[in-house]
Amino acid sequence: MNNKLAKIIDGKHHSKKLLIKVTQLAENFFNLCQRKPCITVIIVGDDPASKIYVKNKIKTARESLIKSTEIVFPKDLTEQKLLSEIERLNVDQNIDGILVQLPLPKHIRENKVIEAISPLKDVDGFHPYNFGNLTLGNHSIVPCTPLGALYLIKKEIKNLNGKNAVIIGRSNIVGKPMHALLLKENCTVTIAHSKTKKLSDITKKADILIAAIGKAEFINKKHIKPNSLIIDVGINRITNKEKSKIVGDVMFKDAFKIASKVTPVPGGVGPMTIACLMYNTVKLSFLRQKLKFEEKLF
Ligand code: NDP
Repeated sequence: MNNKLAKIIDGKHHSKKLLIKVTQLAENFFNLCQRKPCITVIIVGDDPASKIYVKNKIKTARESLIKSTEIVFPKDLTEQKLLSEIERLNVDQNIDGILVQLPLPKHIRENKVIEAISPLKDVDGFHPYNFGNLTLGNHSIVPCTPLGALYLIKKEIKNLNGKNAVIIGRSNIVGKPMHALLLKENCTVTIAHSKTKKLSDITKKADILIAAIGKAEFINKKHIKPNSLIIDVGINRITNKEKSKIVGDVMFKDAFKIASKVTPVPGGVGPMTIACLMYNTVKLSFLRQKLKFEEKLF
């Protein structure tokens, strides 16, 4: 056990700083091209959580001198109609980024939709072209949540060479791109998932532990190495005595006592995800116009 309590990594503070940088870049783009960078968000159906996420994205874009438009479709929209709409946006020269809010209704295949978005407008970085480049260690558009998580890690540890990093969760949007990013930073990376045996034996060796599981407060004292850095990606709503609150995948009080640094939920990775989405939008706007883009994120 650690005598000192962990430092709480303030994602809100870091996201504000990143958004100042993004706003400056957006202003530079405006001065060069006489228009703002532009992101279009498509939402299909009326999932309440998705509506809140989209509202926050649109609001943050506007505050960052990024033009944002929202296209709302009913939940019975056909896959073909959605693909046609994406094709229309792909060729619209005034749109730099296209985001389709996930999850989609069951009858629409997510992979078809992700593949339909031009890789040059893929603000989420989910397209196989961008994902492939990331995996190869090439320049690419990086998915926002892992990018935001890496930003927070690098603010705390400049040199990640040889660090033991363990990621729990192997989703395409968090776990796998996180693996690629940390490998590029020369970490020794292990990725665990629901079929992993003796999880705590693995996580106990992690200098950096990233939880992206989707299970409330699943990671507890038996999983945490003393003095480690914990990144909690999870967003879970729990209800206790009729009161509802958002918690992460990590039992915060355990991490606070054992680790040396920990991200809170809310206020950790969440705000960084939106800031990185704005960063990706501005980056794509520069790249599409073949303008020089200084990539100094960390
Ligand atoms: P997914 O459901 O796609 O993936 C969850 C992963 O956790 C899977 O790989 C699964 O393994 C693994 N897992 C499930 N149970 C266990 C277990 N008992 N032991 C070890 N591994 C397990 O989730 P996402 O990656 O989309 O999201 C993860 C969490 O992050 C969610 O809470 C989500 O809300 C949150 N999130 C937060 C964001 C933010 O901005 N902060 C953005 C995106 C997500 P398997 O593959 O074997 O099924």
